[in-house]
Amino acid sequence: MIPCQKVEFNGLKIPMYTLNTVVIGSGAAGLNCVNRLYREMQETGVKNPQDQVALITRGMGLGTSHNSGSDKQTYYKMGQELDKAEDFAKTLTAGGCTNGDVAFIEGANSLRGFFRLADLGVPFPHNEKGGFVGYKTDHDPRQRGTSAGPWTSRFMVRKLTAEFKLYGITCFNHFHLLSIITDSKGEACGALCVDMAKQKDKNHGLVLFNVRNIVNGTGGPGDLYEISVYPKGQMGSYAAVLEAGARAHNLTESQFGLASLNPRWNLSGTYQQVIPRYFSTDQKGGDVQEFLTPWFEDMPTLATDIFLKGYQWPFDHDKVDNYGSSIIDIIVQNEMINKGRRVYMDFRENPRSTGKLKAFRLKEMHEEALVYLEKSGALQATPIERLAHMNQPSIDLYKEMGVDLWKEPLEIGICSQHCNGGVAVDAWWETTVPHLFVIGELAGTHGVKRPGGSALNAGQVGSMRAAQRIAHAYAQEPLAASKFEKLATAQLKRFTKVIDGVKTPGAKALDAAQLKKTIQHRMSEYGGMVRSLEGVRKAIADARAEFEALNKGGLKQKAAGYMLAAEVRELVIAQLAFLEAIHGILERGGGSRGSHLVTDPKGKKPHAALGDEWRFIPENMELRNEILGITYDVKTTQFKRSITLPNPAPAANECWFENTWAEYRKAEVFRKEKSDKMTPYEIYK
Ligand SMILES: Cc1cc2nc3c(=O)[nH]c(=O)nc-3n(C[C@H](O)[C@H](O)[C@H](O)COP(=O)(O)OP(=O)(O)OC[C@H]3O[C@@H](n4cnc5c(N)ncnc54)[C@H](O)[C@@H]3O)c2cc1C
Repeated sequence: MIPCQKVEFNGLKIPMYTLNTVVIGSGAAGLNCVNRLYREMQETGVKNPQDQVALITRGMGLGTSHNSGSDKQTYYKMGQELDKAEDFAKTLTAGGCTNGDVAFIEGANSLRGFFRLADLGVPFPHNEKGGFVGYKTDHDPRQRGTSAGPWTSRFMVRKLTAEFKLYGITCFNHFHLLSIITDSKGEACGALCVDMAKQKDKNHGLVLFNVRNIVNGTGGPGDLYEISVYPKGQMGSYAAVLEAGARAHNLTESQFGLASLNPRWNLSGTYQQVIPRYFSTDQKGGDVQEFLTPWFEDMPTLATDIFLKGYQWPFDHDKVDNYGSSIIDIIVQNEMINKGRRVYMDFRENPRSTGKLKAFRLKEMHEEALVYLEKSGALQATPIERLAHMNQPSIDLYKEMGVDLWKEPLEIGICSQHCNGGVAVDAWWETTVPHLFVIGELAGTHGVKRPGGSALNAGQVGSMRAAQRIAHAYAQEPLAASKFEKLATAQLKRFTKVIDGVKTPGAKALDAAQLKKTIQHRMSEYGGMVRSLEGVRKAIADARAEFEALNKGGLKQKAAGYMLAAEVRELVIAQLAFLEAIHGILERGGGSRGSHLVTDPKGKKPHAALGDEWRFIPENMELRNEILGITYDVKTTQFKRSITLPNPAPAANECWFENTWAEYRKAEVFRKEKSDKMTPYEIYK
């Protein structure tokens, strides 16, 4: 049993649990961490690890891992060629702006993560000799990818949940992390959460956790964007981490790509390789147009570009010139956002020819596409038949979600899908706030580009590393109750003031639901695939004005309780952090990079026939050698930018077995110094 006592605060009785570590978030990363930590604690001789570690989550079964089509994982040595952790690190850092030591560790530990999942029952396919066969994914020259089908990450969550249940670890289900409590040295020492089912109670459902370590695996910024393929409601707790003083970095590097809007699902891989028809309509569904065809000189180029979107899925400004495949994203965005029309993919028909374009013929596709389809035996007459031949499960899963691709088209958009950046972590996934670890997508271990599948790998590796470090180096007792209560009081004061404001709002309180829509719209408009310096300045000014109005007048919500308002308050802070980062990089002349295009009247057009509003500037490659960080000061409500230089990957095989063994036996390997030690130098006033 985890000891629990009551803290008295302003006449309220607040439960306070005392234990070594709480892991927050039940995605693939959080679950792996809590399980690993339990087992590592057992190894170090902790008698009842289930009393020392607990899981806190907004909901078992929520989050991206369990609810989206995360289908591939990337592992070194998975392919048929020789491979090394060093080489894996080279691929991970090839996109720039990311630390080499962390990349190396992601490589060195990836097989361990993979085989553990395979042994837990995730059905990664192997051949008759037991060999796990790999394939190439985007931004990776090696065949390091593997997949258990469209529900790979869901399998991971389910198998890790089954393991979690075996250990009898306590799960605080339907709890939301509000705030991380720090001590006078700035070290994390506790968490303030809300038991969401009890938000209407007299004590507002508030619960305290007095701990030595916090691991935050609350996932990516899905709810920040209007046009998003993350599961609805998914939002990592960026605000809590920033408010605790941790540095975030690379928040500029989000990924955007083609996905269906309802249900939210990525349209990569075979969905594009079968070359469906694209069309658009007005808002009411009338005025059907083959909107792609006028932009192309010939049908084979158009059809091949659609095909290529299968494995060149995220928008990439480098793939725009000369009818590169990302021109498709631009034309879709132009149709949807600039022209205000709705865009669809229809698997029942091949692309229709209009104007000067000849009729679609598979045999006339460019070589890369044709060879692929021929090798796959996918030369059937229509896209849906080719899809049924190559990937029947991809049709079945839409059927399960209520859409019959044999009968209806899919409405699509260029959606926010992943954030490569996040909270800065060291080689043990510890943040700049000691004893606060961040794992999974909330950790920003990727740079401008990352190989497809490497997010799930990073989640498994980082969660294992955090667990190892905690069990072997951070097993100390939490603070004495009286000391912790004092620190917690400041947070209780802050949050009960916010909560009271929501429960009895003043005349100037902003409507939380409306504000959420405004933020999401703003982020898709100014912080999405297309950005500009002018646009982001306007977005920051508007967001700031709202933040100040909120700080003065508070928030209100229609439903009883206060959770929506609490979430929107966090969204406001996260939004400002992302916009400040985008502003920072655009001011430094970052130009278009990764998955976003930066428009500027001085730039060139992606396509001669597009309007001047599409003129964009190229990437400033020099900035690939630096990492833009953001920190937040709760007192002044101001954000500060900083720059660190990415550290290099360590050389492999620098260890001697006997020495490593000795260090390992004494657990010194888990206590070794960390990376990310470079002091950020300030370049901004
Ligand atoms: C459509 C799509 C396709 C993708 N495809 C791939 C792919 O093929 N390969 C790949 O590697 N990656 C892919 N990704 C990315 C990858 O799926 C995610 O990065 C990964 O699943 C995130 O896992 P996580 O454990 O960090 O977070 P999540 O799985 O999102 O879990 C977050 C958890 O935190 C909880 N939580 C959130 N806020 C709070 C709070 N305040 N308090 C308490 N709990 C909270 C949530 O309820 C949830 O349990 C894809 C992403 C999307 C959206």
